[in-house]
Amino acid sequence: MKKLWSLLLLALILSQPSLAQINEEKPKLIIGIVVDQMRQEYLHKFADRYSDGGFKRLMSEGFMMKNGHYNYIPTYTGPGHASIYTGTTPATHGIIANSWYSRKLDSSIYCAGDSTVTFVGGTEANGKISPRNLLTTTITDELRFATNKRSKVIGLAIKDRGASLPAGHLGDAYWYDSQSGEFMTSSYYHSELPKWVADFNDKKLPEQYISKTWETLYPIETYVQSIEDDNDFEAAFGGKERPTFPYDLNELNPSNGGVGMVASTPFGNTLTLDFAYAAIEGEELGMRGETDFLAISFSSPDYIGHRFGPGSKEVEDNYLRLDLEIEKFLNYLDDTYGQGEYLVFLSADHGVADVATYMESENVPAGNASVSYLNAQLRGYTNAVYGAGDWIMNLSNDQVFLNAKLAREKDVDIDDMEEDLAQFLLKFNGIKEVYTSTAMRNTQFTEGRPALLQKGYNHKASGELLIILEPGWLTGGMKGTSHGTGYTYDTHVPIIFYGWGIEAGESSRKVSITDIAPTLSMLLNIRLPNGSIGEPISEILD
Ligand SMILES: [Zn+2]
Repeated sequence: MKKLWSLLLLALILSQPSLAQINEEKPKLIIGIVVDQMRQEYLHKFADRYSDGGFKRLMSEGFMMKNGHYNYIPTYTGPGHASIYTGTTPATHGIIANSWYSRKLDSSIYCAGDSTVTFVGGTEANGKISPRNLLTTTITDELRFATNKRSKVIGLAIKDRGASLPAGHLGDAYWYDSQSGEFMTSSYYHSELPKWVADFNDKKLPEQYISKTWETLYPIETYVQSIEDDNDFEAAFGGKERPTFPYDLNELNPSNGGVGMVASTPFGNTLTLDFAYAAIEGEELGMRGETDFLAISFSSPDYIGHRFGPGSKEVEDNYLRLDLEIEKFLNYLDDTYGQGEYLVFLSADHGVADVATYMESENVPAGNASVSYLNAQLRGYTNAVYGAGDWIMNLSNDQVFLNAKLAREKDVDIDDMEEDLAQFLLKFNGIKEVYTSTAMRNTQFTEGRPALLQKGYNHKASGELLIILEPGWLTGGMKGTSHGTGYTYDTHVPIIFYGWGIEAGESSRKVSITDIAPTLSMLLNIRLPNGSIGEPISEILD
């Protein structure tokens, strides 16, 4: 009889509709890792010499979206960091470039610049920094709001914009002062440096790093993923004839910015993590019963990549070394929080083009367009056709700003002028397409390059003519390279989630960089950043 009752009870339990478990557990710490200028291919290209505990651990134990892309133009550092953390694009968050021409001020605005604040630590010239040009909330802001600001947010990087934009409006940010070799902040964040930052600066680690020699980690003849070390495509450091290993930093640093030179070597990554460990311990991140957020950006890969290009032994060595740093960091996080107690995501703020002269040497269409030449041509043409005057206010970031005031005075229809100049620009080598601001405002583009441009087009801040270069083309010098386009070499970046709540896996479904923040919102059960347009990545959540 007793047994029958038990069976009946069991049947009753089993027949109940199962209730979804509402899980309010949270990770102790979220670590956002943005590698400045990291192409997705680097995860695979150098993998045979990565350790098991660094990038490969993230790839094999985390969830990797193999086909993650930037979904706007221009792919620069400021917009990249802003878009990852806001889940939206320059059209909405307002960071339309690293620096851009302001019609109102008739001068340049810096993405993380703020004339109303002053330096705290470091030197004055590098202290006018805040997130005030960022028009929407970040995922880090939303975490702070969600916990009534009990959660701490720290953004840190060598580059100020790599620290301040990820930290949002409510977080703390610290960046490297290339003059003094100290990590610093501004009065937006603090009135004086926290003790742990001052203590860190007292160690004077940059001075140690710039007295080292940057040699390849392994014998240079084993760097088979890269072109010859000595070539004409790379820009040598000041004071050195050829762009070749080894780099005696002790000898080179005086002519390459002194302590600032650490940024241009892999030791900049080491320094960034040195500072991250100090931040974790100084702020007791993830140790106070609230979810904290540490936003790290590795700036050095970008400096190295610009100078030497993605095919160089210097870039290969940078990633082999960064891999070891990440292995060490993950081991530290295991020891500090326990495996599975912290959540990491890895991404990049943009990719990079191959050096144009190198691609030409391999018979791939590529080239360099001269901004000053185009500017002069535009000035000559407008003066000839529309009469003498300052018609071209600015040409920067592949955008032309026209003089609307002069057009009104001279009774010139500016829409017609836009069309006319767009046709004029198409005559030049390297220019593929030119879109007008009228088209950007009046047409809803859903795919292709105009859609990428439109997501980067800000109605109040962008220029009248938007230039698309041919694939492989750059505006810059003959040595080294850059980024900024909507082509895959610039848009395709790593997107990996690892750790708390994440099961291993991978997918080649195309996702956008703006999907990272909404995915974090869903994982944490907090609000979406207020301008977010991305979709949570379902593969990671299910
Ligand atoms: Zn960058």
